[in-house]
This record gives sequence, structure tokens and C-alpha cells, in this order.
Amino acid sequence: MASPEFALRPELAALLPYNSGLTLADVASRCGGKTIAKLASNENPYPLPEEALRAMQAAIRSTQVYPDPSARDLAVALSRLTGVPAARVIFGDGSEDLLNVLARAVLRPGDEIVTLYPSFPLHEDYARMMGARVVTIDLTADRRIDIDALLAAVARPVRLTILANPMSPAGLWLTPQELDRVLDAQHPESVLCLDEAYVEYALGEDYLAGTERLAGHDKPLLVLRTFSKAYGLAGLRIGYGLSNCDDLIRGMNLVRTPFNVNAVAQAAALAVLRHPEAMRDAVARTLAERSRVSDALRAQGLEVLPSKGNFLFVNVGAPAVEIADRLIDHGVIVKPWKQPGYESFIRVSIGLPAENDQFLSALETVLGD
Ligand SMILES: *Cc1c(COP(=O)(O)O)cnc(C)c1O
Repeated sequence: MASPEFALRPELAALLPYNSGLTLADVASRCGGKTIAKLASNENPYPLPEEALRAMQAAIRSTQVYPDPSARDLAVALSRLTGVPAARVIFGDGSEDLLNVLARAVLRPGDEIVTLYPSFPLHEDYARMMGARVVTIDLTADRRIDIDALLAAVARPVRLTILANPMSPAGLWLTPQELDRVLDAQHPESVLCLDEAYVEYALGEDYLAGTERLAGHDKPLLVLRTFSKAYGLAGLRIGYGLSNCDDLIRGMNLVRTPFNVNAVAQAAALAVLRHPEAMRDAVARTLAERSRVSDALRAQGLEVLPSKGNFLFVNVGAPAVEIADRLIDHGVIVKPWKQPGYESFIRVSIGLPAENDQFLSALETVLGD
């Protein structure tokens, strides 16, 4: 058939497919029988609580029935956890679904959006898909968040600002003082979205969750969270948004598909919230491993950015795509960064101790060759 180009919106021409990384099956065929350390998608490698497995088993007995379109029980549970009224909680098929819903709800062709760079690619892609222009705030030369540039950008009447805090892939974060300055500087006619996919890992006095400021904030603010990372439910696809703005939630609810979160995901999410010990234990182990791995990488002479996430952004001093490709021969999957200016960086997730060891020794071998 002839090219259906005429049917596609012109905005799609500028988009690339999402770089979702290699699957275990892709890699298994290349490294014959070796154990594979999948360290490319920031998943939690530790087991789920038994209660979550039981909740999922119970839920699969009723899959003939549509799920609750508003995930009412879960909204109430998250309201208890965060203090945000249940009516201002919205769910997505992963938080990336909510990024898409947000873009479709607010962006018009020619609008501007602001985001940090190196960026989470979907922050840019969904905006471009709507015909918006993306203004990126790159890191400073010494690889810190350029807070002055960010403050200047958010003070302008841009339609939308999306900040991953902690940032992905860089792992950097806004201090509480910096977050407050951004909230103060936000233009009253613009929406601010804080993507807190890694909030559960971001412990310590030097980090402030956006939920702490939602109630008192008088401009539209949306905090996005996910069950994919610390809660270990990436395969089920469920994330949520919390806002101080009824109109924004109403608009996003109009845009999303009504049954965007399946019943098994809802049941599992409720169970992991009720049994947070497994998540807390996974976070504690991951943070201990993160400092061990970053010390070891620095001892290899590599530049490693500070990180509040379950991953590290590492300058391997060579084309990252080639290094990542050679790591696969050692059974290690990492994510080579491809955005201009960061092509010598890999993002590596913190896995189980043995996986981290496998990565460290494979990287030493590959860089030594
Ligand atoms: C992983 C990640 C997400 C996506 O999470 P899902 O809920 O699995 O869709 C969103 N934002 C950032 C910054 C992430 O790293």
C-alpha cells in the first residue's frame, strides 16, 4: 500500500520511537546462558510482599468485569498517605500515561513547555506531539541543575513546566530551598508538573516532596508518582497524579480513557500500600548498594553524578552506545544516553548486589580493553 503519510499529523514526523531498552529475551540469545543483569529500566529487583501476590491472584478471578474507572479504594488510600483529597487524585496506565494525558489536556500548537535536560524523553515527546515547543534547561558546566536559568524560564507565561525531581537520567534533585524558589517563581498562568517517579528513594533533609507544598500553593501544580519503581509493579502499569487544582484534574479525567488502570494493577497497588515494609526494605538495600557502586565507579576514575534515585548517571568517557553494546556480551544491560551532550553517559540501575558486581567488573573489563 502507498505511504499513509497524508493521514498522520505532521507533529509525528519529529518523533522517534521510545527507547525502551532491550528485553531479557533479546539479550539471552547474545550471551549464551550467562546470568543477565538487567540494569536499564530502574526496576526494583526485590520481591513483592506476599499480600500483593495474593491480592493479584484474587483479582484475576474477576477479569470479566470492568475495573473501577476511578480506582476509588486506591484514591482513598493515597489520600490517607499524602493528605491530598481523594477527588484530587488521578490514575494512569503508568505515570507516563498521565504525562500523555496532561499534554493532551493542556497543550495547544505553538505553546511552550519547559523541562530539565538531559530529559526524560517522554517529557519532550508528548509535548512535541501536541505541536508545542520544548525549552530545555541544561545542566551547568559543573553538572548541577542550573537553578537561575530554571527560575527565569518558569517565570515566563509558558503553558507547562515538567520537572523530574529527582531528575532522570541525571539523578540530581532540587533542594527544598530550590523547590520553593521554583514554586514562587512559577507564572500564575502556567501549570507546573513535578514528576516524582523516584520519590520513595529520595530520603533525607535535603529533599522535599511536592506534596508537602500542594495545599498552600495558589498556582496549578501536579505531582506525578508511580508504582513502577520502588513499589515494584512496573509490569502492571499504574501511576497516579495529585493536584491542588480541581479544574486540571477534571480536564485530565475528560482526556484519559475511562478504564485506563486494570483491576489487577489496582488490587496490587492497594496491597503494596498496605504493606510498605517490602518497599522500605528494598529502598534501604538499594541506597546502600548505590553508595557502594558509586564509590567503586569513582575508584575506577569515572565521573558519577550524585543521585537520589535507584540509578546512577555515569560518564564512561567513550561513546556510550558502544560501551553498552559491549556490556551485553558480559550479560549486563544498561541504558546508553543518546541526547546531544551526554553521549558518553550511561544510566545504570542499582540491582541486586550480585548484579551490581557483575556490572562493575564487566565495565572495568570493557573500558580496559
Ligand atoms: C520510570 C519513569 C516514569 C514512568 O513510570 P511509569 O509509571 O512506569 O509509566 C516517569 N517518569 C520518570 C522520570 C521515570 O523515570
